[in-house]
Amino acid sequence: MTSKAAIDYEFDKQHIWHPYTSMTHALPTFGVVSAQGCELTLDNGQRLVDGTSSWWACIHGYGHPSILEAMQTQLHTLSHVMFGGITHHSAIEVSKKLLAMTSPRLTKVFLADSGSIAVEVAMKMALQYWQGRGKPNKQKILTVKQGYHGDTFAAMSVCDPDNGMHTLFGDAVTKQLFVDAPQIPFGEGVSQDALEKDITLMRAALKQHSDSIAAVIIEPIMQGAGGMRFYSADYLKALRNLCDEFDVLLILDEIATGFGRTGKLFAYEHAQIEADILCVGKALTGGYISLAATLCSDEVAFGISDSPSGVFMHGPTFMGNPLACAAACASLDLIASNDWQEQVSQIESQLNAELAGAASIPGVKDVRVLGAVGVIEMQTAVNTAKLQQAFVDLGVWIRPFGNLIYIMPPYIIDELQLSQLTHAMKLVAKIAGEDGAQEEPQFISHG
Ligand SMILES: *Cc1c(COP(=O)(O)O)cnc(C)c1O
Repeated sequence: MTSKAAIDYEFDKQHIWHPYTSMTHALPTFGVVSAQGCELTLDNGQRLVDGTSSWWACIHGYGHPSILEAMQTQLHTLSHVMFGGITHHSAIEVSKKLLAMTSPRLTKVFLADSGSIAVEVAMKMALQYWQGRGKPNKQKILTVKQGYHGDTFAAMSVCDPDNGMHTLFGDAVTKQLFVDAPQIPFGEGVSQDALEKDITLMRAALKQHSDSIAAVIIEPIMQGAGGMRFYSADYLKALRNLCDEFDVLLILDEIATGFGRTGKLFAYEHAQIEADILCVGKALTGGYISLAATLCSDEVAFGISDSPSGVFMHGPTFMGNPLACAAACASLDLIASNDWQEQVSQIESQLNAELAGAASIPGVKDVRVLGAVGVIEMQTAVNTAKLQQAFVDLGVWIRPFGNLIYIMPPYIIDELQLSQLTHAMKLVAKIAGEDGAQEEPQFISHG
């Protein structure tokens, strides 16, 4: 099933921005004409096994009949309507489902249009909350290095300060507070001493600045676009306690980790903690259309109502878009009815078995797996354009960034397709290793 119209690559190259690219030195693009299951079909008819789930979103695969049907029905009844003064069934249903699947403390839902906006909303909530509690000076956000929370200005202000974007925009980016990222890897057995050492800077920052800190924001368990790092659940547990001790809100950004990716429905479940404010996005609609959400507790919502404005100051044009909410309802139903836990644990075992050998490839620094995430970290930054072509030649779609060659496949991927991905990762890691030190490192975020 290919589209009739040819892809106008020349127009694309001349006129259309792609993520994190130059308009004068455009990187090559690949024309996709259709997608089904775990495969993308290019305009030349070649089929690629997708190892990215379209930036971690398409967990049930492409063209899933129940999501398509839900969207089609919604499209024909109410594709969009403003959310100011109006409500609709799909927004109510998706919010009910989100509250039912997340921790009990979370009771209120803000439907946002993308992950970055969900993070903006979370930060605004935190600031307005403290206004309502009579502490308007609590305006700073504390976070860890090597994080990623989005590309809008407030979201950028809590992304890793050294990874590029802060220096690019100088004083236009709000100065926030940073401490070193957690060092203890995810897994068993952390001694109290090791944990104390890991979290001591966080404690010191909270002790010193809690009068000016509104919230801590962190990606639970997995730092995604900031480096694909998996850290200890004990760190997260200790962080929750510190936030309580120093009267600071905890914002968990589950935009990458939510909906099963790390082996738990939400990554915070590894640490058995609750957020005051929770951001979800990416896989929320199964990757069919943009939608994100910011959930908060009664305490946060009531605090905002006590703030001088008395209302929460955000309301995008496409808030609660019915088509997106209908897709999300169908995707969340699939999560409820499918055996995602079994699928993710199968993927995890296979990744562990098949990527283990990559550790001995020259130039490889580390190999790690958590849930349906497999990572080969190289010692030096890779040449994305070159490796991208190598992956396509091998019949897979994997998009390396920085020094990372990683996959986050759809949960429905079969054993053979997954083997094709891991095989390609190892071959391409060899190429990257041989290129090694010769390659110029380039600035790229998760592009
Ligand atoms: C992708 C991502 C975002 C930003 O979401 P967008 O929809 O791209 O704006 C924020 N936080 C995390 C952890 C992400 O992975």
